[in-house]
Formats: sequence, C-alpha cells, structure tokens
Amino acid sequence: MKIGVLALQGAFIEHEAVLKRLGVDAVEVRLPADLDGVDGVIIPGGESTTMGKLAVQYQLIEPLRELAHAGKPLWGTCAGLIFMAKDVGRDQPLLGLMDVTVQRNAFGRQVDSFEANLNIQGVDGDRLFHAIFIRAPLIEAVGAGVEVLARVEKDDAEVIVAARQGNLLVTSFHPELSNDDRFHRYFLKMAESKT
Ligand code: GLN
Repeated sequence: MKIGVLALQGAFIEHEAVLKRLGVDAVEVRLPADLDGVDGVIIPGGESTTMGKLAVQYQLIEPLRELAHAGKPLWGTCAGLIFMAKDVGRDQPLLGLMDVTVQRNAFGRQVDSFEANLNIQGVDGDRLFHAIFIRAPLIEAVGAGVEVLARVEKDDAEVIVAARQGNLLVTSFHPELSNDDRFHRYFLKMAESKT
C-alpha cells in the first residue's frame, strides 16, 4: 500500500508519520510524477489559497482529479477539505470534486481554535474521537451523494465537520495531530478496497 501526501505546504509531515507508524509507504507529492502508483492521496491542512495556487503552478490539479475519477480515495483535512470542495463561496483554485458547500474560517480566528470529542460514523471503538480544529472550515450544505460522518456543536446548532462521497473523504479537523490513528485506518480501508 502506497499513499501520497500532498506536500506543497501545510501539515504533511504529521500525516506521513501516522502512515509510517501504520506500516504504510508514504510518498510526498510535489510533482505529477509523484502520483505514479499511489493507492490514495491525503491533502493536508495548511492554507487553502496558497495550496491551490501552488497546485496550479505545479500542474497537479488535473492529475489529482483524474486519480479521483479513477476511483482512488482522496482525503482532505481542513485546508484539504476546502481544496476538494465544489463551492467555498469565493474565488480560489479548487479541485472541485466533492459536492459540498464550505465556509472557511467558520469558527473564528486562530485564537478560537478548539478541541472536541466526536462520535464519527464508521470509525469504530468505544471511545469518542478527540478532534483538533485550527481555524477550521465547516460544511454548510451537502449534495445528495454525500454521507455525513460527524457533526460538532456551534452556537446551539450541530454543524457538519466530516463527510464522505464514495472515494472522497473530508474532515474539518486534524486527525494527524490527535495521537489516534483510527481515522487514518478508516481511510486505508477505503484504499484497500480499491486495490
Ligand atoms: N483557515 C485555513 C484555510 O482557510 C485552513 C486551516 C487549516 O488547514 N488548519 O485555508
């Protein structure tokens, strides 16, 4: 099993570390050729506008779309979720793969970063998942083919923070920072079923 981690900017090292701990070959993706032979790709957190501009510059947009269309799993965390979305309410380079409407920085500024224990659909175990949100986006609306995996409370309402659409997975939070590899194992299961 070989998983690519988009390594243009952001928290890619942390994802690689989890993958290596799980005995998976992790490759840093900076150029289209780095995608050769990968079984799936993780798009890390960071800053989505910068990441998108770099992806355009390095000609990665089309190869990533092709991989997704070929059924390989893609997982976007935080800025990666924004980059995978169809609609983020503003003009910035996007993969536009996932049928979700995203609100960037929905929980406030850097100082409003927070942690929450979540019940996540499909992530097994008898304890909640400790999720870390850093200037996180939220998912405002999902299309018909999108399954909601987790919600968090915000202003007395429940907002969507994890979702899946077939081979596409997105989370507003950072599982790579949680010291809990269950979410990575969930993604690897998606990748295994495609190999
Ligand atoms: N606020 C960032 C953005 O809008 C995302 C933050 C993150 O990835 N932790 O791109």
